[in-house]
Formats: sequence, C-alpha cells, structure tokens
Amino acid sequence: MQAWPNVGDFRGGALESALVVTVLSVDPSRPDLRALSPAAGAMRLGGLVAFPTETVYGLGAHARDAASVARVFAAKGRPADNPLIVHLHAAHHLTDVTTLVTPLALALAERWWPGPLTIVLDADPTLPAETTGGLPTVAVRVPDHPVALALLAAADVPVAAPSANRSGRPSPTTAAHVLADLGDAVDYIVDGGTCRVGVESTVVDARGAVPIVLREGAVTREALGLDPDPGDAPTGDTAASPGTRYRHYAPDCAVEVAAVGAGAAVAARHAEEGRRVGLLGPDPAPEGIVGLARTPDAAALARALYDALRAAETAGLDLVVIEAVASVGLGRAVMDRVHRAAAG
Ligand code: AMP
Ligand code: MG
Repeated sequence: MQAWPNVGDFRGGALESALVVTVLSVDPSRPDLRALSPAAGAMRLGGLVAFPTETVYGLGAHARDAASVARVFAAKGRPADNPLIVHLHAAHHLTDVTTLVTPLALALAERWWPGPLTIVLDADPTLPAETTGGLPTVAVRVPDHPVALALLAAADVPVAAPSANRSGRPSPTTAAHVLADLGDAVDYIVDGGTCRVGVESTVVDARGAVPIVLREGAVTREALGLDPDPGDAPTGDTAASPGTRYRHYAPDCAVEVAAVGAGAAVAARHAEEGRRVGLLGPDPAPEGIVGLARTPDAAALARALYDALRAAETAGLDLVVIEAVASVGLGRAVMDRVHRAAAG
C-alpha cells in the first residue's frame, strides 16, 4: 500500500502533505519487518506513525526532530507544555537521551523493561523542547510489544509518542480508534490488534533513591514496593507531571460511576427515566440496557474501558454507567481513568 501526498498541495513537501493514511496490518506476535519498514523509514524522515504497545496505541515521531514532534502536538491538539514519553527499543539507549542514569533507574529498567513503566530522568539538553515540554527532565520507556519493538528497532531513533488519540478523548486500544481520531493527520497506522493492558504506563521520577509515582498506571505501587496508600506523596503532582492536570478520556456522552455491586441497579434507574444507557460492570446488563463489556476485575475493566466509551458514542447512548472496582493495585490506575472520564 502507498500513501499519496494530497494532490495539488506540494507546498509542505511530500510527508507533510500526505493526508491519506496508510494502514499496515501486521501479525502482532511475529511482525514482518518488511511490512514495517516503510513506516520506520517514514518516522526517521519526519513522518508520524501510530503503533500498538501493550498499554495503548502511541503516535510516534522522531524525538530529535522538533518539527515532527510539533506535528504530533498539532495532530492531537495537545497543550504544548505536556511533554511526551520517549520510546526506545532497548534499555542501553537510555544514555542517548538522558545525562545521568541513576542506580534506581538502572534497577527499574532491569526489572520492568520492556514493560509499562516510564522512567523520568535528567534530559539530554540537546533534545528539542517540543519533546520535553521545556522541562529539564525526560520520560522514557521500552514498550513490551513485539510490533512496537520491531518498529523502534527498524527506525533506530528515539521515538516520542503520546497516546494516539485527540487530546481529551479516550485513549486508543485498536487501530480503528486511531483511524477515527487521527486518520487525517498521520502518515501510517500500524495495526497490530487490540492492546493487552488497556491503561497507560506508570510514570515514575527515578532521579532520587526511591521511585516517586507521578502518574498511576499499569505497574502498581505495590509491585514497585511502595506504600499502596499514597497519602500526601506527590502522586498526580501537577507541576511534576504536567499531563495529569488536563481533561482526559472523555467520550461524547455522560459517564457515571456506580459503587461496587450497584452498576446494574444504577443503570436500570437511569433507563427508567428514558435515557439510553450502557453498562460496564461484572454482571450481565438488565433488559433495556446495552451491555458494553463484562468487567469482573480491574484488569478486565482496564482492557475494556476505552473501547467501551467509544462504542457508547457510536451507538448514540446518553450515558455509560461504570461499576467501580476496588481501588487497590491496578484498580487505582483504572479508577483514576474512570473518574477522569466521568469528570469530562
Ligand atoms: P501520554 O503519553 O499521553 O500517556 O502522556 C504522557 C504522560 O507522561 C503525561 O502525563 C506527561 O505529563 C508525563 N510526562 C512526560 N514527560 C514527563 C517529564 N519529563 N516529567 C514528568 N512527567 C512527564
Ligand atoms: Mg494520553
């Protein structure tokens, strides 16, 4: 398949004006390198490539190319002060984008990479401010997905990649979600199926001796050996992790959180008022309610959440009722996303 520049507009050069996206379908477990190479080559030359990771789909650009990274912000409508995560195919490339790899960072990388843990360290000062959001630090991770790793290895450059959705919308967990949000703004979408985890990476500051969680995510506080109750710890600190202060994950319909055990009853009550209601919860949907997914635990809710929010929009529902899961382990990260979706 071939992406053609928008005919009649050659002002910006071929890549900038390539308004027709090419979707490359690959086997998620054994990606064909030849199939990926046009996308990898495009990224080296300044193109935007959406690709699957174990958490959500990312929108990748050459992290050292300020103009390409600026295109990522424009495509997403992302606030310029919200920095991007730099994706590497191997931990030893950490030294390419940071100035000091602390013993803590080394230990975390050894334990969790490839995986859904993002490590914040002092940034190589030659990284463009577009990538770091003008901060002296940079967020880095090695994703645990064969397609992402193959693409990153083939591109052989650090790749800045936020989630591949329009800012404020639910994150994408399938190539179809990316196409719906960004189909007119990216050069390639690599379709590697549905993301396994469904909730974003955990972001930790690893400049000191103990990890400081800046954003809850797929690696739990418990798994990091931290106190599960963050208390007054700087979790979600708006200055430390700029992204946590913006509207997030909100679909074009209302979202209500129901208490554990109350999802079906709350959904039924709203349906009686004449609203079209969808349910995400452990129990089957009662008569007259759209069952969006069965979510018996935090992992199931993580996998189903963003797709269900988008499916509710497509179905023209008025309201999605999400039954809470206990706020422990992965449940804390998932409920963070659920509450943000409901606040939108
Ligand atoms: P996204 O890729 O859309 O899931 O967003 C990445 C998250 O990482 C956002 O919440 C950013 O604010 C956060 N982040 C990226 N770089 C840094 C950094 N240098 N320091 C703190 N947080 C960061
Ligand atoms: Mg995001």
